[in-house]
Amino acid sequence: AKDLGKNRFMLFETRMHEQLLSRLDQENRLREAVHRGELRLHLQPVVALPDGQVSGAEALVRWQDPQRGLQQPGSFIPLAEETGMIIEIDRWILLEACRTIRAWQEESPATAPAWVSVNLSAIHLDLPDLTDHVAYALATTGLSPHCLVLELTETVMMRDLAVTSARLEELRELGVKIAIDDFGTGYSSLGYLRDIPVDVLKIDRSFINGLVGNSRQQELVSAIMQLGHTLGLRVVAEGVEDADQLTLLTVMGCKFAQGYHLGRPQPPAELRAGLTVAEPV
Ligand code: C2E
Ligand code: CA
Ligand code: CA
Ligand code: CA
Repeated sequence: AKDLGKNRFMLFETRMHEQLLSRLDQENRLREAVHRGELRLHLQPVVALPDGQVSGAEALVRWQDPQRGLQQPGSFIPLAEETGMIIEIDRWILLEACRTIRAWQEESPATAPAWVSVNLSAIHLDLPDLTDHVAYALATTGLSPHCLVLELTETVMMRDLAVTSARLEELRELGVKIAIDDFGTGYSSLGYLRDIPVDVLKIDRSFINGLVGNSRQQELVSAIMQLGHTLGLRVVAEGVEDADQLTLLTVMGCKFAQGYHLGRPQPPAELRAGLTVAEPV
């Protein structure tokens, strides 16, 4: 029995060892991904309603892993956050998004998105040089500050309210806009609206799917949109997956929408090719 226990322990140890190695391996490959240029910027359109024109775009990271192919953020962002590598990743995406949209606006102002939004992980708010870095990205790319939106989740904001609002105020002084991402999924969301300077509310997709045929949920989403509009905020409905949802949201007075039905996240060149210039009549 004693031997059996020992064997089990060794098996356990081996497995732990393997897991540790594979984690270290992934960590190293992710670390190198940034320097080897394996990160990709994808853009998902955000359309204005009711006309359906592309108004802006959200920047979403992908990793073109030479071993495993194109990786979605869900498979590497958690590790990147744990290790702090997310800082470098977010900064790369920020720069790339600003550069891409700026070039697009210069080359074809008629079809270019008017703004781009970039996701920032919570850790950024602890870094004193966040504002400097954003200012640097705007300065080197020439993108106008009012064309940049920084998306933060409610969990981010749930931290030290005083520090958070001071940091966000600093950013807003640059002229950039702040969005609350996944709005409605954290708790005490209303507290942020009171205490934190924001410009955009993104209603989480869990409120949008199941909207059709659920009057209670419709009332709730209507109320959130009205509240946002009353506060002078841009309100975006996320995760619009079909025409029925889009029609309903339009009737409800929704002004901005994003989702697979309107466009998938895609490489900038693909998005650009899909947007044709409306011929002047
Ligand atoms: P998010 O910021 O809420 O981004 C929206 C996510 O919903 C994206 O997933 C997008 O592909 C997906 N989505 C868009 N429309 C629909 C739809 O109609 N239906 C459904 N089911 N999903 C839709 P993605 O690209 O896999 O990103 C997942 C999350 O990873 C993002 O959620 C964001 O929290 C994080 N993320 C992505 N890129 C970055 C980044 O550059 N930096 C940081 N810090 N986080 C990022
Ligand atoms: Ca987002
Ligand atoms: Ca979201
Ligand atoms: Ca999210």
